[in-house]
Amino acid sequence: MVEDRKFISGIVPPQERSAPAWWFIFSENKLLVSQKPESVTIPLLVDLSELGLTTMQQNYLGQLDDRHCYAVEVAEGTIPPAGMTFEGLREVYGRLDEDLFWIAARAVQIVDWDRTHQLCGRCGVPLKTSQTERAKECPKCGLLHFPRLAPAIIVLVERGNELLLARSRHFMPRMYSVLAGFVEPGESLEEAVVREVREEVGISVKDIKYFGSQPWPFPHSLMVGFTATYAGGKISLDDSEIEDAGWFTADRLPRIPGKISIARKLIDWFIDKRGSHLNF
Ligand SMILES: [Zn+2]
Repeated sequence: MVEDRKFISGIVPPQERSAPAWWFIFSENKLLVSQKPESVTIPLLVDLSELGLTTMQQNYLGQLDDRHCYAVEVAEGTIPPAGMTFEGLREVYGRLDEDLFWIAARAVQIVDWDRTHQLCGRCGVPLKTSQTERAKECPKCGLLHFPRLAPAIIVLVERGNELLLARSRHFMPRMYSVLAGFVEPGESLEEAVVREVREEVGISVKDIKYFGSQPWPFPHSLMVGFTATYAGGKISLDDSEIEDAGWFTADRLPRIPGKISIARKLIDWFIDKRGSHLNF
């Protein structure tokens, strides 16, 4: 969501590098961070060998300002260097610089893709990394293998001064959020919005407008956010997915998702819009 991010994606690493680079190092999808009193940071080193870790794979990511960035995987069970720990991405949100956090979200997906795409799915021979795009190519049959991305829609539905919030069975206790779901093959994003809302709560929507998007690396989604207006119907729950749903006003909200998520950005947008009429 950070639009002024100064990150430029790249595929081919520089041939020579004398300045320190950012190293996004993962073991079992956990990021290596050094602890500071109130925050964490990641290694900024000229050479990864300074840490004395055994690496399994390394991918170039691009540049953040003038610093090169690399994604690295080390073996399961690797002991972190002194003063450092491996932490899950969700756990470092808010403590790691936001630009670095979103590059880490990119890095973890590249690392996962590299690990799970070593051989061609059609003919079984080892793949070669493309020098022109983020892909691997089979040297025998030419099949291209791209990192997996699963598009999902997320939608805030308004009805007058109320918004629709629902509780999924696997949410934290008492937490409600806007509706979301994966896009099906052959479906437009707008069709996915209409279908998800109808399937999950039984209502119809109109005026579907694009809001923004966010990579969601748990494990490889791209969340595409929309706003929509209530068009008809009464809430009836799909009880396999949704435990409760209802209409809420900005001054009487239940527990809502944390700042990391586009769900929260949608809800904050609604509160800001309605908040001018309210006294909090
Ligand atoms: Zn092949």
